[in-house]
Amino acid sequence: MKEKKYDVVVVGAGPAGSITAKTAAEKGLNVLLIERNPEIGVPVKCAEGVSKEIEKFVDVDSRWICTVFKGTITYGPDGTKVVLSVDGVEDTGYVLERRLFDKFLAEEAARAGAEVKVRTQAYGVVREEGYAKGVYARSAGEDIRISADVVVGADGVESRIGRWGGIDTRLRLADVVTCAQFLMCDIEFNRDYCEIFFGEDIAPKGYAWVFPKGEDSANVGVGIGGDVSGENHRARDYLNAFVNDRFPDGAVIAEMYGAVPLSGPTYETVANGLILVGDAARHVNPITGGGILEAMQGGAIAGDVIAKAVQEKNFSKRRLREYEKRWRKEFGKVLEVGLKIKNIVLNLSSQEQNEFFHALAGETRIKEFSERALLKEMIKKNPRILFSLAKFLL
Ligand SMILES: Cc1cc2nc3c(=O)[nH]c(=O)nc-3n(C[C@H](O)[C@H](O)[C@H](O)COP(=O)(O)OP(=O)(O)OC[C@H]3O[C@@H](n4cnc5c(N)ncnc54)[C@H](O)[C@@H]3O)c2cc1C
Repeated sequence: MKEKKYDVVVVGAGPAGSITAKTAAEKGLNVLLIERNPEIGVPVKCAEGVSKEIEKFVDVDSRWICTVFKGTITYGPDGTKVVLSVDGVEDTGYVLERRLFDKFLAEEAARAGAEVKVRTQAYGVVREEGYAKGVYARSAGEDIRISADVVVGADGVESRIGRWGGIDTRLRLADVVTCAQFLMCDIEFNRDYCEIFFGEDIAPKGYAWVFPKGEDSANVGVGIGGDVSGENHRARDYLNAFVNDRFPDGAVIAEMYGAVPLSGPTYETVANGLILVGDAARHVNPITGGGILEAMQGGAIAGDVIAKAVQEKNFSKRRLREYEKRWRKEFGKVLEVGLKIKNIVLNLSSQEQNEFFHALAGETRIKEFSERALLKEMIKKNPRILFSLAKFLL
């Protein structure tokens, strides 16, 4: 078996992996980024919406922006409309072209000095004296052993790196939303807003979405609770019903199926010689199902902490805990509160859900397009349901 040695091997070239690799390479580390697929960014498993907060993590490039949107419109089960935008700002977010965006981030990692290897799938973690010391992988039909002082699990929702490295990443069905999405064209919809639809008939324990991608094209999808999915009532069935109802004459250009972990973060995200980032660490907002920004933010922190660990030649769990402390400080609270709100909303009856939406009905302008600003506004508008959450936010 061939063997090569690096400071760090990053498994998975999504946003989390590429930003980790780029950050570590910029700090002079010898980095290998591996991706199991032959083409980075493909297949796309995402509705591709992000808030303008993405500008904190990357210089926005028109090549991977499809549309700029003004805000979101959310419809309650009885059709009550809640319009959300940012005070004094025309545009609040982007719909990305992830096929190109993910490639762009991997290119940035490569330009910073990381080695990138596609068609390379990790199938085990090398362990020595209680430490992760690299991965076993199959690369272009050949078995290889990649030695590294730090292994980064950026391998998405299906992550196995964590489990192989001794971290419990198991998900209950109830903690996963299973999704089906069509890229549709030749349809009429609101091009200025991302639209979200709630209702037991539309998407039990989840929601449907229409995110504008172009003049007459959009990502149209449905996500439902993993524990309510079954024969003849899978996400795909709900999506077919939604599309037949709203866009019966539209054309389906692409189909996509995927899952989003809404469990909140794994109990631990570090072990000796190992770090989990992005979906692998379950860094996804449990209310919105969005994880791109958390993946990027977490990746930047991970790359920085790994660089320090390499400099100090200390790869212990204790040293790597700085990563855990920092992501908890930067976005841990949003995930924690999001999980509590998700659990409250899921346990409301349809009648209570309607009341919840009635209290928020109309147009709401928040100070900035962040989860924190949104949650504060929700609490202000609907203190009865959300009163108990105030203490987590203020
Ligand atoms: C239907 C759907 C809609 C979504 N919509 C949005 C949205 O609108 N906005 C938003 O912010 N988020 C959205 N998300 C979530 C978002 O896609 C993820 O949070 C984000 O992609 C996480 O990035 P990541 O780098 O952690 O993982 P990923 O982007 O999943 O990347 C993981 C990579 O690891 C690779 N990999 C896995 N195992 C191995 C292995 N053993 N060896 C080598 N490579 C491996 C995979 O091929 C993949 O390329 C959506 C998700 C789904 C499923």
